[in-house]
Amino acid sequence: MSGSVRVFADYRGDVLESCDVVVVGSGPGGAVVAHGLAKAGRDVVLVEEGPPFTPEDFVVDGAISMSRTMREGGLRATRGFVMPTMQANALGGGSLVNSAICVRSPRTTLDAWAEQYGLSRTGRDDLDPHYQAIEDLVGIAPTPDEVQGPRNLLFREGCRALGWSCEPIARNVVGCRGSGECFTGCRSRAKQSTDVSLVPAAIRSGARVLTSARVERVLTWGRRRATGVEGSIVRPFTGEATHRFRIDAKVVVLAAGCMATPVLLQKSGDLANSSGQVGENLQFHPGVAILGVFPDRTEPQFGATQGYQSLHFVSEGFKMETLWAPPGVFAVRLPGFGLDFKANLARIPYCAVFDSISSCNRSLGSVRARRSGMDPVLHWRLHHEDVRILAKAMWAMAKVFFAAGATSILPGVHGLPDEMRSPDEAEVLLTHSYRPTDLTCSGNHVFSTTRMHGDPRRGVVGEDGLCHDFDNLYVADTGILPRSPSVNPMLTLMAIAHRMSGEIAARL
Ligand SMILES: Cc1cc2nc3c(=O)[nH]c(=O)nc-3n(C[C@H](O)[C@H](O)[C@H](O)COP(=O)(O)OP(=O)(O)OC[C@H]3O[C@@H](n4cnc5c(N)ncnc54)[C@H](O)[C@@H]3O)c2cc1C
Ligand code: SF4
Repeated sequence: MSGSVRVFADYRGDVLESCDVVVVGSGPGGAVVAHGLAKAGRDVVLVEEGPPFTPEDFVVDGAISMSRTMREGGLRATRGFVMPTMQANALGGGSLVNSAICVRSPRTTLDAWAEQYGLSRTGRDDLDPHYQAIEDLVGIAPTPDEVQGPRNLLFREGCRALGWSCEPIARNVVGCRGSGECFTGCRSRAKQSTDVSLVPAAIRSGARVLTSARVERVLTWGRRRATGVEGSIVRPFTGEATHRFRIDAKVVVLAAGCMATPVLLQKSGDLANSSGQVGENLQFHPGVAILGVFPDRTEPQFGATQGYQSLHFVSEGFKMETLWAPPGVFAVRLPGFGLDFKANLARIPYCAVFDSISSCNRSLGSVRARRSGMDPVLHWRLHHEDVRILAKAMWAMAKVFFAAGATSILPGVHGLPDEMRSPDEAEVLLTHSYRPTDLTCSGNHVFSTTRMHGDPRRGVVGEDGLCHDFDNLYVADTGILPRSPSVNPMLTLMAIAHRMSGEIAARL
């Protein structure tokens, strides 16, 4: 069977299709499900609101890139504790703009899930074959030294000097040339984002892909059956609706992302919500970053965007990584005005940035549909006890910087010195009495708004991703993770989605 892909210019009128399975969203979750089902011979339609991007479309200017690839121009933020959070609007979803980091969740984390969320077959041994299948499918391998560039290797030097474990990050890339541009799109198409890997593979297996198609409602019949989805064909970058579409399907899989799927369920008449958990339990991995200045040029624009990591403190709640993004993105964090600010900008060729993502399981929020449109209202608060995790993460990153030979660090904490020049001076990062608002965080890893729970009264989906309230409505995005996976979430989501695709195929 040969599949097809439609872009905005292909639509001449309203669209009506029918299929075995309609999958909403082409990010890591949806693409894995669509690919698995198409490969198993099922008739699949994959619906994606965003347009496809080609290497010619990518611009290295961070602000322009964000305005084109991200929802709300990349300026989406939580209320309560104000924290930016980015979700992509593109074929490939988050995988188009992410750093390709692929890490299996630790056994201890998955054991804790089992205990707290009544799960019996989502342990590490259960997921290992699915992790392996995804790793083979999209070519996941540790970042080689040749493309690390100085700033990633300085992180290794610092960790080794301290005796802390660290390793090159495993990524879904083939032929990475270390351009450090993952955030604005991989112009050399080395990153195996789903738009260049699993979506084309699904099309080769017969899947039909509709891009620029925004699902606005899940259609149902009776109390437990979904019958399809409907929505609008939308013009790329403006969202202007030009035509309508409806897809009739035997099975509906929602993979619109942790922020969009709850909105879709709420807008469809509060579906799948007998537990009251749709849109609840919103969790992030709040990220904190520190910039370090070295005596020699680091030329930080070169090297894999995120090439090294340390899992040394994962059991204490945080994971350290190297990081790069367009300088304009970091510039908003630099201290100083006028000439001082200019002087700080001039130090960028001598700097490196490390970040930590933290499992803040006590810091919870919610996703609510707005009266009009499909964008969410996000509420979230950073719990004061989780602030201790972020404080320790910043202290640890400062240690790594100084152990690697940095002459100073810029921690970006309100109420503390803008610049610290010795490990002794940086000890305050651990001992300071922080208010949550002293910290500048960002949260691009999002979870749990349609969480998996063995008890239908306490979660939205079961271990198979099927909504407890339905016989044929599934969710396959990070919203189903019951809580933080302790490490970057993409690979764990893909492993769970891989298992789900096999199980849906078997039931059809
Ligand atoms: C800048 C950045 C860097 C990151 N780096 C990493 C990393 O290196 N490693 C890692 O593990 N994680 C990383 N993440 C997180 C990771 O990208 C996400 O966890 C992952 O993409 C989530 O996959 P998903 O399928 O749940 O949702 P998404 O990737 O968000 O995909 C959802 C898709 O659904 C589409 N959609 C939404 N609403 C609708 C609708 N109504 N109709 C039709 N389509 C719709 C969206 O356009 C999108 O394409 C990063 C995230 C960001 C933003
Ligand atoms: S570092 Fe550059 S070449 Fe490598 S995957 Fe990222 S954008 Fe592509």
